[in-house]
Amino acid sequence: MTQHPLNLLMVASEAVPYAKTGGLADVAGALPIELAKLGHDVILLLPHYRCLSESGRSFRSVCRLHVPTPQGLVDTLIEEDVIPVGEGDGRVRVWTIRNEALYDRPGLYQDQGADYPDNLDRFSFLCRATIKVMAYLRASCQWETHVLHLHDWQAALCAVYLKTIDRDRPEAQGVRTVLTLHNVGYQGLFPENQFEKTGLPPSLYNPAGLEYYGSVNLLKGGIVFADYVTTVSPTYAQEILTPEFGFGLEGVLRNRANLPSGILNGIDTVRWNPETDSYLPANYSVSDRSGKQLCKRMLQREFQLPETAVPLLSVIARLTPQKGLDLVEAIVPQLMAMDLQLVILGTGEPELEAKFKILQARYPLRIGLRIGFDEGLAHRIEAGADMIVMPSRYEPCGLSQLYSLRYGTVPVVRKTGGLADTVIPLTSQVREAGGATGFHVEEDKAEALLLVLRQAIALYQDQSRWEQLVEAGMKTDVSWARSADTYDRLFGSLVRGPG
Ligand code: ADP
Repeated sequence: MTQHPLNLLMVASEAVPYAKTGGLADVAGALPIELAKLGHDVILLLPHYRCLSESGRSFRSVCRLHVPTPQGLVDTLIEEDVIPVGEGDGRVRVWTIRNEALYDRPGLYQDQGADYPDNLDRFSFLCRATIKVMAYLRASCQWETHVLHLHDWQAALCAVYLKTIDRDRPEAQGVRTVLTLHNVGYQGLFPENQFEKTGLPPSLYNPAGLEYYGSVNLLKGGIVFADYVTTVSPTYAQEILTPEFGFGLEGVLRNRANLPSGILNGIDTVRWNPETDSYLPANYSVSDRSGKQLCKRMLQREFQLPETAVPLLSVIARLTPQKGLDLVEAIVPQLMAMDLQLVILGTGEPELEAKFKILQARYPLRIGLRIGFDEGLAHRIEAGADMIVMPSRYEPCGLSQLYSLRYGTVPVVRKTGGLADTVIPLTSQVREAGGATGFHVEEDKAEALLLVLRQAIALYQDQSRWEQLVEAGMKTDVSWARSADTYDRLFGSLVRGPG
C-alpha cells in the first residue's frame, strides 16, 4: 500500500477489455488496477468507440460537458463503468467520452488499412474533453487531479493544453503531467493546414513547439510540455535518444531537462494465467506441465497440422515492418528443410499477409496461418507453441514474450528494447547458472535469425535442457508488482518533490 494515496487520471486511446489493437491496451487496462491496488484513486478516460457499446459492459451516465472544438462547444456525455479491485471497496473508474460523430465507427484509428482522415479532430477532442473532465472532477466531486498520466500521441495534447491555453484554469494548478511513450514510431503527424483543429494559437506551430519539418506532431508537443516522460523499458529509454530509434524526436528527447526513464510493463496475471485461462483446452502450471502437451496437440488440430512431436514455432503480431516478420518470411524455405511446424497469427500490411498466404499454400502441413485479430487464439498459441519468434527491428517493451515466458513458450527475440531487458539469453555463463529463458538474435538480418533458430531447434532435441529453459521462463516474475511500485514512487516524487 502506498503511504500517500493520489488522485490519478489516465488518458489512453485503448484499454482492455474495452478496445484493443496492441500492447497499449493491455497496459492501459492493467496499470490502473495495479495502482488502485496500491491505494490510489484511479480514473481511466477512454473514447467511447463503437466496440465499447458492443463489449457487453454496461455504462451509467455521469455528466454532460461542453467540450470546445473549432466548430464551437459540443455537448458531450461522460459515462462510467466501474472495475472492482481487490476484496474491499477498491475500484477503478473507467469514464468514457461519447461523441458519435467521431468515435462511433468500426475501427479505432483506421478502417481497412486507411487512417481516418479526421484523426486530429478525434484526438484533439479526447484531450479537450479531458481538461473538461478535470474541471468537472474538481468543481463537482472535490477531486483534484494530482497526476495526469498520458499514453502515446493520442493523449499528448493534454500536456500542451495544460501548459498553454488552459494554464490559468483552476484545474491546471498543481497537476503534474506524465507522458508514457509506448512506441516512438507513431507520433500523430498531420498536415500543417490542420493545425487549427487543435485549438492552439498559431504561435505554437514552430520547431520549439508542435512543428516537425512542416507537419503537426502531437507526440512532440507532449514531449516538450509534459512534466515527465517515461517509456516502457530501460533499453528503449536509451535507444530513443539515438537517430536509429528516435524517429526524428531524439533531439527533442535529449533536450528535456529530465531524460525519459524506462519502466518495464508487466502483464495482467489474472487474464494471462495458464493455470486458469479459459481459452485453453487444458490448464497447466510450472510444476505440472502435462496440459501444455494437450494444448499443443489441440493447436495443431486447430491449424490442421499433423499432431506430431516436432518443434512448433509461432508468431503473434501486427504485421508491420517494425516486427521484422519479413525476416521470417525470407527464411521459410530453410526452416521447412527442418522438421518443424510454424503457426502465424497476425494482421496488417496486405503485402506481408499475401506472402504468408502463399507460403501457407505451399506448405499446408507445416504452416498454419490465421490472418485477423483473435484474442482467444493468441492465448491458445502462447500455450500450445514451443517457441515464439519476435525478430522486431525495435520493440519498446513487447508483451507477447512476457506471455510466452509465463506459458512456458520459449522466446526467440531480437536483442532490442524490452526484448533485450526481459529475455535472458542462453550463453555459456548463463547455461552454467541455469537462468536462461530464451534466445537473443543480435542483428537485424535473416541469416542471424536463422542461425539462432537452428540453435534453438537443436536444443529442443535435448528435452531435459529445453525443459530447464521452459521452467526458468515460467518462474520469471512478469507481473506488474515491481513496475507499479516504480510508477508509485515516480508519481509521489513528482507531487511531493524528491525525497
Ligand atoms: P504491439 O503493442 O507493438 O502490438 P506488444 O507485444 O506490446 O506489441 O503487444 C501485442 C499484443 O497484441 C499482445 O497482447 C498480443 O497477444 C496481441 N496481438 C497482436 N496481434 C494479435 C492478433 N492478430 N490477434 C490477437 N492478439 C494479437
